[in-house]
This record gives sequence, C-alpha cells and structure tokens, in this order.
Amino acid sequence: MPDRNPLPRAILFDWGGTLMEDDSTSTVAAAGSPDIRRVPGALEALIACRPHATICVATNAMVSNDAEVWDALSLAGLAGGVSHVFSRQSLGFGKQDERFWLHVQATLGLMPQHMLMIGDDFDGDVAAPARAGLNALWLNRETQERRVGTGYDTLFSLTELPDRLFG
Ligand SMILES: [Mg+2]
Repeated sequence: MPDRNPLPRAILFDWGGTLMEDDSTSTVAAAGSPDIRRVPGALEALIACRPHATICVATNAMVSNDAEVWDALSLAGLAGGVSHVFSRQSLGFGKQDERFWLHVQATLGLMPQHMLMIGDDFDGDVAAPARAGLNALWLNRETQERRVGTGYDTLFSLTELPDRLFG
C-alpha cells in the first residue's frame, strides 16, 4: 500500500477502464442508451469503501461532463455510493494538470495525502496525482507488471481492494 497514509479519507476512482469498461464510457454521451458494463468488483469495492471514505469519480473522459457521468453511474447502479464527480469536460482541465487536483482538494477540504486515486491509466491516475501529493493505486488488469513508487502501488483487480485497504 501507499505509505503516506494508510487510511484515506477520500477515495477517487477513475471511470473508464476502472469502474466501467471503456467501451461503455465512450458511448454513453453519444448514444443516449449506453450498453453499461461494470468492471468486475466495481460495485463491491464501492460498497466496501463507502463506510470508510468519501467516494468520488475523477475522469478524463473526452465526451462526458459531470451530469453525463452521473447519468451513466446511475444506469450502472454505481451512483449510490458516489459523493462527487470530477470530470475534465466540466472542469476544463484533466488529471495531468495540477489544477485538477487542487480543485479536488478545495472541494473536499482535504490534504492530498488523505486522498487515494485508483485508476487504469498510469500517467493520469497514478503519476499525476502522486506528483500532486496524493496516494495512488494503478489498476492493471492486463498484465502481471507491478509498479511501485513513492505514494503508489499496483492493484491487479478491484476485488482485491477492500482487503488491501481495510483487511
Ligand atoms: Mg481509465
């Protein structure tokens, strides 16, 4: 686990490829009737984390703003556990931009070391938030590669998450 803080007060999940399969997130805004597919373990992870931390979604999706992400989360049965959505589309800047994380901190009123970002894109979901002082977990469902560094580690499935954080 990341070593800056063992129990995060806020957990931010990426959307495409982390909570929902990427093919779902790319069609939600455009098609209007999305073929929603949750990533295995997504619902269980949110249910397990919700009693311990504020749950957020942080997305770099090109086509979906905050409202459209909320709609998609609702259709996927995931909205109930989520407190905040932060989207590049609504903010005007993405996760690689430091302003994204400053906005998240200001909104949640938390120091970066009290937040954990989880996502499948190493640059946007791990390297960028780690640079901003957050902890991060890289969700790698594709290979056996494990990446570990200051403030970040690797997760191979969302089903591992509850034990990893609270076990
Ligand atoms: Mg992603």
